[in-house]
Amino acid sequence: MATRIALFGGSFNPIHLGHLIVARNIAEQLGLDRVIFLPSSRPPHKNGAALAEGDHRGQMVRLAIAGEPLFELSDYDQNRPGPSYTIDTVSHFRQTLGLEIILYWIIGTDSLADLTTWYRVGALVDCCRIITARRPGFREVDWDRLRSRLSEDQIAILRAGVLDTPQIEISATDIRRRVREGKSIQYLVPEAVRQYIAEQRLYQSPAAVDAHPAPS
Ligand code: ATP
Repeated sequence: MATRIALFGGSFNPIHLGHLIVARNIAEQLGLDRVIFLPSSRPPHKNGAALAEGDHRGQMVRLAIAGEPLFELSDYDQNRPGPSYTIDTVSHFRQTLGLEIILYWIIGTDSLADLTTWYRVGALVDCCRIITARRPGFREVDWDRLRSRLSEDQIAILRAGVLDTPQIEISATDIRRRVREGKSIQYLVPEAVRQYIAEQRLYQSPAAVDAHPAPS
C-alpha cells in the first residue's frame, strides 16, 4: 500500500489541542503514516505583528508532539526567506518524498474559505490532496467563489476532502487573548506548551493578541 503523509502548515502561534485532535482524527480516518507539522515563517495570509518568534513556535510544536511517533516537526518553512507559499512547500515535499507517496495538506474550514486568495491554488489542488477539517464558529465555504479560480473537477476533489472531524472550538487568537488577560489556558494547549508560554512570558503585550486578520 502507498505511504500516506500529511503536511499540516500553520502559524501555530501557539499550537493547541484543536490542531492535535484534528490531526490525530484525520490520521486515523485516512490511515496516515505520518503527519508533518510545518510552522510558517511569515504567513502570507496573516499579519506578522502578533507572531511569536519562529523559534518559540517551533519549540512549542516540538513539546506538543513529543512522544507521538505519528507526528513530526519540520522547520522547512521557517528556514525559508520570505513568505511561505503552500504550493512551494508542497512541491518541495513532493520532490523529496517521491511521486509514489500520497501527499495530503491539512487545513481548517476557515482556510478553505480563503483558498481563492492563495498563490497558484489550482496547481496546489493538483499537486496534493487537500483535506479540510470542520471548524466551528467560521462561515460556511462559498463554493461559487472558488469557481473563479478552480475547475469543476478541482472543486469536486476539494469537496470530497472535507472530512467529518471533531469540531473543536479552540483558536490561537483566543489563547493569546486569554494569556494577555491573565486567564488560564489549561485544557486548551498541552501542559508542556502551557508551561513554556508561562516560562518564556509569551503573548504578554497587546500587539501579541491580534484578532483573526483579513486574508491578503
Ligand atoms: P489564529 O487564531 O492565530 O488565526 P489558528 O487557531 O487558526 O490561529 P493556525 O496555526 O493559524 O491556528 O492554524 C493552522 C491550520 O489549522 C489552519 O488551516 C486552521 O484552519 C487549522 N485549525 C486551527 N485550529 C483549528 C481547529 N480548532 N479545528 C480545525 N482546524 C483548525
